[in-house]
Amino acid sequence: MQYKAYTLHNFRNLPQIAKLSKEQQKSIEVVGSVLPFKTNNYVVEQLIDWSNIPNDPLFITTFPQKEMLKPEDYKKIEALYDSGADSQAIKEAANEIRLRLNPHPAGQLQYNMPIFEGEKLFGIQHKYSETVLFFAAQAQICHAICTFCFRWPQFAGMEELKISTREIELLAHYVKAHPEITDVLFTGGDPLIMKAELLAGYIEPLLSKDIPHLRTIRIGTRALTYWPYKFVTDNDADILLNLFKKVRKSGKHLAFMAHFNHPVELETDVVKEAIGKILETGAMIRTQSPILRHINDSSESWAELWRRQVALNCIPYYMFVARDTGPQEYFHIPLAEIWQIFRKAYNSVSGLCRTVRGPVMSCLPGKVQVLGVAEVRGEKVFVLRMIQGRNSDWVHRPFFAAYDENAAWFDDLKPAFGEEKFFFQDELDSILMPGEKEPVY
Ligand SMILES: *Cc1c(COP(=O)(O)O)cnc(C)c1O
Repeated sequence: MQYKAYTLHNFRNLPQIAKLSKEQQKSIEVVGSVLPFKTNNYVVEQLIDWSNIPNDPLFITTFPQKEMLKPEDYKKIEALYDSGADSQAIKEAANEIRLRLNPHPAGQLQYNMPIFEGEKLFGIQHKYSETVLFFAAQAQICHAICTFCFRWPQFAGMEELKISTREIELLAHYVKAHPEITDVLFTGGDPLIMKAELLAGYIEPLLSKDIPHLRTIRIGTRALTYWPYKFVTDNDADILLNLFKKVRKSGKHLAFMAHFNHPVELETDVVKEAIGKILETGAMIRTQSPILRHINDSSESWAELWRRQVALNCIPYYMFVARDTGPQEYFHIPLAEIWQIFRKAYNSVSGLCRTVRGPVMSCLPGKVQVLGVAEVRGEKVFVLRMIQGRNSDWVHRPFFAAYDENAAWFDDLKPAFGEEKFFFQDELDSILMPGEKEPVY
């Protein structure tokens, strides 16, 4: 199948759009002017159930919805359209709204970018000691864009917020100089938007014998959901699969970190075939997804997602809480409810599905897991732990936050038992003091 993208400029050419009301069509345009919008022929033809509009989860996954903007913001952009304003005026109004949507949550820009031999490495994030993230310049887009994407500013034309680099040599150099690094995680956007030959240019230098401490290449991708043909019929499919084999032959683990939100994404013949081909190379597929209102906010949906993954030889890995950015209010679910959904789903599946860890918030101090709600000496609390921490000594220590039925993100939580701060707060402050105290590697 030939890939075809649909964006603001051509979505009206899709015959399926005629099924939407005029109001719905307009809202795609209005919201799509602020938040990035891109879908494709596979999503439209094989994933979305057009008899289930507007509630279809895969429709909501790529098509902007009116409620994703605050009513006053929506009205503002709508009025510009109605008055025939030019694209520059719309862009300016959109930018003003975007800047209010917390475009870089969890200190991604300020705190995670290492300095190496006096140079800032714009394409690298190094937050946890074992794993570095790498953002290849050519991977800063995806086969389709999720409406809830937490990296949405990269795709919304806010150029100054882009994180990317071409400098693969610097990456290899950096990894070599840091024996604590065992994993390099290629992310984006989607690294598999790149032609296989280009991706090979990034990965192969890391396979050399003189970086023995590097054990794992990870690829964070949504290609299995948005373009499984990449592994089956695209003209670089064989080169890509051979690259995976090469990673394995070098003695390293290839961890394919696949993002699936909903069981429907695992239902088509082509995705099953693609998974089979990836696994044949010796790579392993681990799966992760945020939990989102309107898309996968039920325990049945999660239990089925994990069961299908295991049936297809994929390993459930993370359930994330949606970050506090972009149209978060549309998608967010209170932590207490998320925990109930997680628990009910987890309780109803085999132990082989219970490799999943969650619900997890990737926030400033680390990856914080909500273990549950409990009562300690008459006080209702959230029991939390870190699965990753800026300081690895924080990991796996239980700690407690006061129960708050509306809390939807880590920043909404306060320490339990009347304490002033969480146990890691002073150390976190000393790591993160602005200016002089950026972590230096
Ligand atoms: C999640 C994450 C990682 C990887 O963590 P694992 O628990 O090893 O999967 C690495 N870096 C950052 C910034 C992350 O958010």
